[in-house]
Amino acid sequence: MGELLGETESLCPVCLKRIPAGKVADNGKVYLEKTCPEHGDYKVLIWRQDARHYLDWAKGSEKGSGPLHNFTTVDKGCPYDCGLCPEHWTRACTMVLELTLRCNLRCPVCFASADRDRKHEPDIEVIRGMYEAVMEGVGACTIQLSGGEPTVRDDLPQIVALGREAGFSHILINTNGVRIAREPDYLRRLKDAGASAIYLQFDGVTDDVYRYTRGQNLFDIKRRVLDSCDREKVGVILVPTIVPGVNDHQLGEIVRFAKSWIPTVKGVHFQPISYLGRYPHPPSDEDRITIPDVIRALECQTEGELKWQDFLPRHAQDSHCSFSSFFILTGEGKLQAMGNLARGRVTGWGSCPEPPPEESSRRFMSRHWRLNESCCQSCGAGDFYDRLLNYYLTITCMPFQDVWSVDIDRLRGCCGHVVTPDRRIIPFCAYYLTNSSGERLYPTPLLVGHKVGQGK
Ligand SMILES: [Zn+2]
Repeated sequence: MGELLGETESLCPVCLKRIPAGKVADNGKVYLEKTCPEHGDYKVLIWRQDARHYLDWAKGSEKGSGPLHNFTTVDKGCPYDCGLCPEHWTRACTMVLELTLRCNLRCPVCFASADRDRKHEPDIEVIRGMYEAVMEGVGACTIQLSGGEPTVRDDLPQIVALGREAGFSHILINTNGVRIAREPDYLRRLKDAGASAIYLQFDGVTDDVYRYTRGQNLFDIKRRVLDSCDREKVGVILVPTIVPGVNDHQLGEIVRFAKSWIPTVKGVHFQPISYLGRYPHPPSDEDRITIPDVIRALECQTEGELKWQDFLPRHAQDSHCSFSSFFILTGEGKLQAMGNLARGRVTGWGSCPEPPPEESSRRFMSRHWRLNESCCQSCGAGDFYDRLLNYYLTITCMPFQDVWSVDIDRLRGCCGHVVTPDRRIIPFCAYYLTNSSGERLYPTPLLVGHKVGQGK
């Protein structure tokens, strides 16, 4: 029997009922333990490191500020009333707009269960309403235009421009890069419309990884995307989905690759796989990659160039959702950690009052996840500031929760959200959540259809 570190609630993976759960330290690791009276006991690995580390990491947690406007009321309680409801603790740092379920790849690993149905895609007027709902509900956060694969829509540049008009200054394109690699002028059109950076699926540095995760060789496509971004001066965030036994040995190589593309590549954002869709048996401990695993792998696979202590809890409502780090590339070609920049606290060269956590996350992304124009030749601030402004790399990580690992308190503090065509705002980890039969807690509006102008 382990030591109880804290109590929360979770969901039954079979019936999706809310059930009590305990965070329990056992044998140098931390687990979420829960029992459904009907469907039995579950013990899920959430932290592959000891209780002390888990509790120390919690010191990064800080209270968020709630939504500006709630589009739903509390009825059945979290997580059944998302919209956001008044029980949600934080505003959003990131907002995903799902523009299509179509995709130009057929990936075995896909959050969005993308297929080729196009009949329920939101049109430009519905998308205008989605932007308005975001501004009203949570204010000007980072926007991620997503799918499916958003670049299959020919009106994507127009959708970007609409977002800029609606007051969003930081708009990322979540893409596999295929269209950018194939169409020479496409990236320029996105840039001219106001896109700030490319959020590029990037699972590894060899084709065997892509064959497993995406069903085909894509490494050359990724390199061509980076060439285009370099030429057009558009920043890139590399986003690897980490799958045990497939690419968890390439984390160091991915960082080395990213380093070789500085200043075009601004960051690597690691997403350990979460288990969505149909799973008859709970994923085992070996199927889980937790935050300490990613940090350990980065330290080991870079031969200590990156260090355990370089990675800090993101300034967030629940720090167990993520880590954050900021490195400058030194003249000797090494990554050197800048601890205070990792958490988005430093807002200028002087000291400023501490912003609430979602605000510092917004600033972190808005400041670091785009290509800055160098100013330092003219202002003479020197090499150090030029490197700080341009020759840096952020390394961040956010494992999404699934029906086994979901912690309702973490969900209430979630700051990564999806806006739906009917103007609801739903935390990412609730939106994509499925039970063990693959049924979603929140069915995809793009699949079941939506009513225009019927928002609450
Ligand atoms: Zn149950």
